[in-house]
Amino acid sequence: MLSALSLLLVTTALSVVMLFVLSSLRSSKVEGIHEWGQANACAVLALLLFASRGILPDLLSIELANALFLGSAALMLAGFRRHLLAPVPVRPLVLGMLATMAGLTFFHLVIDILPLRTVLVSIFHASVYAAIGRSIPAAQEPGLAYAFRFTRRAAFALGAVHACRGIFYALQAGTPLDFLDPAAYNLVFFAAGTLALPALTLGAVMMANARVLHDTAYAADHDHLTGAWSRRAFFTFAEHEHARAGRLECCLSLLVFDADHFKRINDTHGHATGDRVLRDIVLHAQEVVRKIDYCARLGGEEFAVLLPDANHQTAMDVAARLRKALDRSLQLAPSTIPISYTVSIGVATLAQGETLAGLMERADAALYAAKADGRNRVVSAPLPPAPAQVFEGGRRG
Ligand code: GH3
Ligand code: MG
Ligand code: MG
Repeated sequence: MLSALSLLLVTTALSVVMLFVLSSLRSSKVEGIHEWGQANACAVLALLLFASRGILPDLLSIELANALFLGSAALMLAGFRRHLLAPVPVRPLVLGMLATMAGLTFFHLVIDILPLRTVLVSIFHASVYAAIGRSIPAAQEPGLAYAFRFTRRAAFALGAVHACRGIFYALQAGTPLDFLDPAAYNLVFFAAGTLALPALTLGAVMMANARVLHDTAYAADHDHLTGAWSRRAFFTFAEHEHARAGRLECCLSLLVFDADHFKRINDTHGHATGDRVLRDIVLHAQEVVRKIDYCARLGGEEFAVLLPDANHQTAMDVAARLRKALDRSLQLAPSTIPISYTVSIGVATLAQGETLAGLMERADAALYAAKADGRNRVVSAPLPPAPAQVFEGGRRG
C-alpha cells in the first residue's frame, strides 16, 4: 500500500541516485553541477529528517528538515542560473527562505497549524520553480532544444502543482491534518512535492549532457582562433556538396585565399597581433560571402570558401568582393599604427567528372599563381585537361 513514508524513502533513494549521476558529470566542468549536487545532498538530508517525524525531536524533523528542503530548491535555481551564465538572485532567495522559515516556526511553535505551514512552503517552492522555468530560454539551438524544453516545462508544471497545493491547503486551514496522512489528495501533493527535485535534477543532467555534446561538436567543427569552420568540417561539407553537385549536375565553386606576407605581420607586430588579423580576416570574409557559403580556415593563414550552386562568374564576383573587403587596415588601438593586410585568391569551378581533390588542386594552383603575379589579386583556375568539362552554365568566360 502506497504511503507518504514509502514515497519519502523512494524519493530519498532517487536523490541519492541523482547525486551519483551528477558526480559522474563533475569532470565535464559544466557550470551549475556544483550547486545541483549540493541541492540533492540537502534534499537527501531533508527527506531523511522528514521521514524521522516522531522519532527525532520536532525541531529537527520540522524546522531543520524544511530549512534544508527550501535550501535545496534555492540551490537548484542557483545551479540553473549559473549554468545559463545568469546572475543568481541571492538576496530574494535568502529573504524568501528567512520569511518562510519565520512563518513556519510561528505556525509550529506558537500556533501549530500544519496546513498553513504547507501553504508557506508551497508558496516558496512554486516561486522558485517558476523562476527556474522563466530562467530557461524557450528557443535554443537544435542540440540543446529538447533538454531545455523538458526542464522549462517541468519547472513550470511543478510550480503550478505547488501553487495548487498552497491554495488547496489554504482552504483546508481549519481541518486537522497529519503530515503523513494517507488520504489520496495528500499523497498526490506529497509526491509532487518530494519528486520535484529529482525531476528537475533529471532536467539539469539532460541540459548538462546536451551542453557537453554541443560544445564538443562545436569545438570539432570550428577553428578555435577565428570561429570559422574547421578544416575537418570543411571537408565533410565539401564532400557532401561535391556528391550533390555530381548527382544534380549543379555548379560548385571554390575560393582558396591566403594572407599576403603574413610572416612579416607576425615578425613586425608579434604573434598575438597576427592572431587578431586572422580573426579580422574571418570576420570580414563572413560579411562578404553568401549565407549558404562555407568559410573555413584550412590552416595557418590559409582559408577556403565553398560556394554551392555558384557558377564561375558568380564565384569570380564573390572573389573580387572578398579581395576588396580584405584589402584592409586594422586599427588595434587609437595610439597604434594601423596594420595593413591583403589576401590573394584562387578560384576554381567544378568540372564534369572532376574529383574534390582535383578541384582543390586547381584552386590551390590559382592561388599560387596569384602570389607569383604580385599578390593582392584574384586568379581564375584554368579548366582541367579533357575529357572533363564544366557543367552547363558552370563556367563562362
Ligand atoms: P605569402 O604572401 O607568400 O603567403 O607569405 P606569408 O608570409 O604569408 O607566408 P609564409 O608561409 O611564409 O608564412 C606564414 C606565416 O603564418 C608563418 C606562420 O608563423 C604564420 N602563422 C601560421 N599560423 C598562425 C597563427 O595561428 N597565428 C599567427 N599569428 N601566425 C600564424
Ligand atoms: Mg601567406
Ligand atoms: Mg600560407
